Amino acid sequence: MLDLESATREWLDKDDRYLWHSMASYGAGKEPLVITGAEGSWVTDARGNRYLDAMSGLWCVNVGYGREELAKAAYEQMKSLAYYPLTQSHVPAIKLAEKLCEWLEGDYVIFFSNSGSEANEAAFKIARQYQEQIGERNRYKFVSRYRAYHGSSMGALAATGQAQRKYKYEPLASGFLHVRPPDGYRKPDGQSEEDFNLACAQAIEDVIVWEGVETVAGVIMEPAITGGGVIVPHPSYMKRVEDICRKHGVLLIIDEVICGFGRSGRKFGHHNFGVKPDIVTMAKGLTSGYLPLSATAVRKDIYEKFRDQQSYSHFRHVNTFGGNPAACAVALANLEVMEKEQLVDRSRLLGERLADEMAEWVSHPYIGDIRSFGFLMGIELVSDKATKDPAPLALVNRIISSCKAQGLIIGKNGDTVAGFNNVLTLSPPLASTDEDVAFLVRTLKSVLQDVVADARLGDSA
Ligand code: PMP
Repeated sequence: MLDLESATREWLDKDDRYLWHSMASYGAGKEPLVITGAEGSWVTDARGNRYLDAMSGLWCVNVGYGREELAKAAYEQMKSLAYYPLTQSHVPAIKLAEKLCEWLEGDYVIFFSNSGSEANEAAFKIARQYQEQIGERNRYKFVSRYRAYHGSSMGALAATGQAQRKYKYEPLASGFLHVRPPDGYRKPDGQSEEDFNLACAQAIEDVIVWEGVETVAGVIMEPAITGGGVIVPHPSYMKRVEDICRKHGVLLIIDEVICGFGRSGRKFGHHNFGVKPDIVTMAKGLTSGYLPLSATAVRKDIYEKFRDQQSYSHFRHVNTFGGNPAACAVALANLEVMEKEQLVDRSRLLGERLADEMAEWVSHPYIGDIRSFGFLMGIELVSDKATKDPAPLALVNRIISSCKAQGLIIGKNGDTVAGFNNVLTLSPPLASTDEDVAFLVRTLKSVLQDVVADARLGDSA
């Protein structure tokens, strides 16, 4: 035990000295988990503690950890062909592109990159160029929603609707506009959920018209806003947005970086809403995080406008590593596991179970709303259920650290500037066992219960 502790201290000291973490700043008594291994839905840290990873890393390890099939696929592919750029072609990319079209259930062509941000950047460039090449030369703007996250690069961040992630890095790419998200929990009193959602869709049309229809290239949205606090739209919303896009010649880009690959209980999130996007972007669950890979799926007839080699009509965009053969081989193995183990159906089943288990907890004094989309859940914490004031960050953090102390990793999302960093998030591996889900529910409930008991004690003190 002592050895593990001193080894951990050594790693933490070096971490503190050499490693610049994503998002979090450590130091001042806060230390990261140094994860040394993982199996199924569980990760182990350098001290030997085990945690159920109910965030699948960063919403991505859909098939769970420790899958030999995926490791073997990478190994075999690296031995036979480790790398070749997709300025030419290779078999794993061809096979994966075909497979993705099958999963998408539509007529698409696939462009590979390495990350969700890059997949979205490619989508924006394709949309602008397509509009230009069909004679719509002034269409360069994109409409997105506040609270949505679309990535960290200058265009994807511009599409993001969370001010706190942006204001230190502006000016970002220009031409990105935002509208109100369909946050049914905060709809005006007296309005039905559906009417409110349709009004939110109407806000998109208003922006398109007010900006000048001939200036708008596309609308980008996730099927459900994930990182911005799990905002799940009414079933009518996305269809209405699709109709608006069609009416005005605006491309509908669906960001499936989190909602794709079974997370929503269907293969892709938009399959829940019966829409046919013009462009679909995906990453994370594509390889379950085993290797970096992302894709931008583009409707075939849009792609056809890029095929005229006479002029500069081809897509003048390249990334060195996009569609790396080993990453494609891993993605194929990952999709095979999902098919063999019917993980899309399992996601729906486990999502329903989790939603049933948590439903009555909406009466908890600090829980304002519980929202789920397949095996993805957001629990919105408030300090006052009548005013819906967001719970203080200290309470949210306390719940998260109590969960961690009991071996459960959960997430926290929302929008800091707007005071909404108050949504607990759950996005466990789709291959979680029944026991994993039981542990998750039991631990979370016990922590939520303790929070109330402690608050009562606080009142009487
Ligand atoms: N879109 C969405 C919806 C995301 O959640 C993310 C990442 N969390 C991205 C895009 C960007 O992906 P990446 O971090 O791989 O660039």
